[in-house]
Amino acid sequence: MSDAKIHDLIIIGSGPAGYTAAIYAARANLKPLLFTGMGDGGLQPGGQLMITTDVENYPGFPEGIHGPELMERFRDQAVRFGTEVVYENVDKVDFSKRPFQLVSAGTTYLARTVIISTGARARLLGLANEKRLMGFGVSACATCDGAFFKQKDVCIVGGGDSALEEANFLTRFATKVHVIHRRDALRASKIMQDRALNNPKIDFVWNSEVVDVLDNGGNPPKVRAVVLADTRTGARSERATDGLFVAIGHIPNTDLFQGQLDLDDKGYLKVKPGTPETKIPGVFAAGDVADSVWRQAVTAAGTGCQAALAAERFLEAEGH
Ligand code: NAP
Repeated sequence: MSDAKIHDLIIIGSGPAGYTAAIYAARANLKPLLFTGMGDGGLQPGGQLMITTDVENYPGFPEGIHGPELMERFRDQAVRFGTEVVYENVDKVDFSKRPFQLVSAGTTYLARTVIISTGARARLLGLANEKRLMGFGVSACATCDGAFFKQKDVCIVGGGDSALEEANFLTRFATKVHVIHRRDALRASKIMQDRALNNPKIDFVWNSEVVDVLDNGGNPPKVRAVVLADTRTGARSERATDGLFVAIGHIPNTDLFQGQLDLDDKGYLKVKPGTPETKIPGVFAAGDVADSVWRQAVTAAGTGCQAALAAERFLEAEGH
């Protein structure tokens, strides 16, 4: 089945980048169609802020705002100006000919321009309680949630630059930060290692895997401990703590584009530096899907705006 119409712009993804692109494009009368993604493959409607509680660093909200509420506002603003939101995944794309083709739920959509804002997802340990307690003491983002752990004891799992950077950041709030790593050597760069090893508020728990997270049974629940397994002996132990940060890397949501667009060695979409342009004219990327470094809602929104303006200029230059 095909909806036959050629859309000026189709946006894939509904985080801050996608909705900001939609707001700009809709105000420019491009009537964008935006696919939210439906949760599988990491692409969830609203993006990563949907698994955050309070967002305190998004400008314009001095009292903070809940992640899901912020994303509802993004969506309402995009819809107000004429964005059509489709609550489906995009299952297939073909950028080899114009108009570009996108297949969603058995229907083929045609587009003159496409903005990819499918984001990234935090790599998680894969524990049932990790998922259940996300936002209740478990977090995959120290920048977002660190400030809720003032004078608390926290654990962070991972041995790379992210884990150590986040551990350092968390010492601004927490009384003690325990870095739990599955080996006895860190993957992080020397400078990050030195900084963490010299920080008196950080200690290291080597050769240990987090195999469970326990809560206090309250409503809402609160993390009270992690269960560790020694990677050499398998011996299990419980460690009391107020929070668990998971910093074992991110996975960009780029499976859909493999073979059609260039990816960097970490799997992120490659764009021409300082622009939202991919290697295919008319296909743009915005937000975390093309950013392994900054990964903030506000930076994603900024690049979403750039992508919409770039799409608008592209269409104008093509006489549409
Ligand atoms: P990373 O370098 O891939 O490190 C991931 C860490 O998590 C590794 O120590 C890994 O352990 C551990 N890990 C992975 N899966 C695990 C699992 N299932 N259970 C337990 N531990 C697990 O990822 P990253 O730290 O997010 O860094 C990503 C990239 O961004 C890197 O290139 C990094 O240099 C860069 N970065 C740089 C900075 C900076 O320079 N300031 C800050 C952040 C990130 P193993 O070591 O045993 O594999």
